[in-house]
Amino acid sequence: MKRRVLSVASECVPLLKTGGLADVVGALPKALAVHGWDMRVLMPAYPGLAETMKRPKVVWTDTDLFGGPAQVLGGRVEGIDVLLLDAPHLYARDGGPYSDDSGDYADNPERFAALCWAAAEIARAGLSDGWRPEVVHAHDWQGGLAPVYLRQAGVEDVRSVITVHNIAFQGRAGADKLDALRLRPDDFTSEGFEFWGDISALKAGLVMADAITTVSPTYANELMRGEFGMGLEGVLQARAGVLHGILNGVDTDVWSPDTDPAIHPYSARTLSEKRKNRAALIKEFGLGPVPGPLAVVVSRLTTQKGLDLLPDRLAEFTWRGGGLVVLGSGGPEIEMALRHQADLNPRRIGIRTGYDEALSHRIFAGGDAVLVPSRFEPCGLTQMYGLRYGTVPLVAATGGLADTVIDANPAAVSAGVATGIVFHTTDALGLEQALRRLIALYDDTKTWRQLQRNGMKAELDWTRSSAAYATLYEGLFE
Ligand code: ADP
Repeated sequence: MKRRVLSVASECVPLLKTGGLADVVGALPKALAVHGWDMRVLMPAYPGLAETMKRPKVVWTDTDLFGGPAQVLGGRVEGIDVLLLDAPHLYARDGGPYSDDSGDYADNPERFAALCWAAAEIARAGLSDGWRPEVVHAHDWQGGLAPVYLRQAGVEDVRSVITVHNIAFQGRAGADKLDALRLRPDDFTSEGFEFWGDISALKAGLVMADAITTVSPTYANELMRGEFGMGLEGVLQARAGVLHGILNGVDTDVWSPDTDPAIHPYSARTLSEKRKNRAALIKEFGLGPVPGPLAVVVSRLTTQKGLDLLPDRLAEFTWRGGGLVVLGSGGPEIEMALRHQADLNPRRIGIRTGYDEALSHRIFAGGDAVLVPSRFEPCGLTQMYGLRYGTVPLVAATGGLADTVIDANPAAVSAGVATGIVFHTTDALGLEQALRRLIALYDDTKTWRQLQRNGMKAELDWTRSSAAYATLYEGLFE
């Protein structure tokens, strides 16, 4: 019989995505099925999501879930077993999943505590169709309280795992919310979920879960250091024995240049076809000829991503022949600075804002190099998409970027293993020098082709990582 795991998350591809978390939550069920695990994904029924399910069934109800009635609708969406927590008082909002134009929703702590409460109840008593998980796998702070409620409910036969996708988001709430969040005051201590006088949902998960994972081996090590742990490094040091770095994979059904319906298809053997995508992208953005590398960025426009450093480097980069196409979301200041550069040099620099999945595919296919100069990067997906699409990644040596890209230093080039450009200090000089290396490498056609081909051959799918998750789940019962 299949083993059962309940994944608890605030977003999941194909239902709703604001970042890499959704890609991973959406890819894990398929990847784990191979290893005999039946994973169902519990997430909020944001407006419109229930309609995407064919014949949903009510599999769980509650008359008072944090201030109103709630039900869970079970059904399949593109091959994934999804459980939508339908609680209109919490999720029927006009804005985004976390915020609207006036900022974060004030009741976010309750909104995601409710998700965790439902998860723990499902683990305690099962769904009406008899399904009951053996493992609850929570993601980020939005899932952080699930292990706490499991413990509060005295559920002893279900194990819990929490995955940290980004430690910058910690789910803090004032201590006055203890009651509203149905948390026991005894655990409001520095050994429990108290964090600088507040409640931290993420810390709660880190302290209470049976195992912790994060999305790359390097980030797992970084999290235990002051520069990256964001105040939680001590908690992670204390739990080092159960902390695992498991690299995210790429959903190769979606990200493969030879089958991608959004582009002119190509493969490592037909790399010259990539040129059509480059030409189309240049046309789409109204650029002129770009004699050097066409760099691309698909990203949230934030300082985490190091993109504040980019605008001032562009005069030199374009003067040396480079071009730039950006698809960005959020971050009005960085957007303005990039737009200013695009206005000065519209034949070499193009920028689009907003979220556009199909355009992101055309950009990865049409670019020569993808820039990911992050200050920290738990795993990062866009460098991996770049590798798969022969779009050479230029990355900072941090987190998953360090784990997935091999720098084109002379030794790696002569050994035939290099896949990109890795630079060590995310500051103005570091990025400037990396961009100069990019110009020079692009000129060296033979080496450039080698980088492209090596990247396209790299094993980036879920095979290895899903096996690691399955082994981890199984180990929780030993
Ligand atoms: P993070 O989760 O920190 O934002 P990741 O690299 O892990 O960063 O994942 C970002 C995901 O979101 C990738 O799949 C990337 O292609 C996608 N993405 C980011 N910005 C946009 C955008 N403006 N339009 C379309 N896709 C985007």
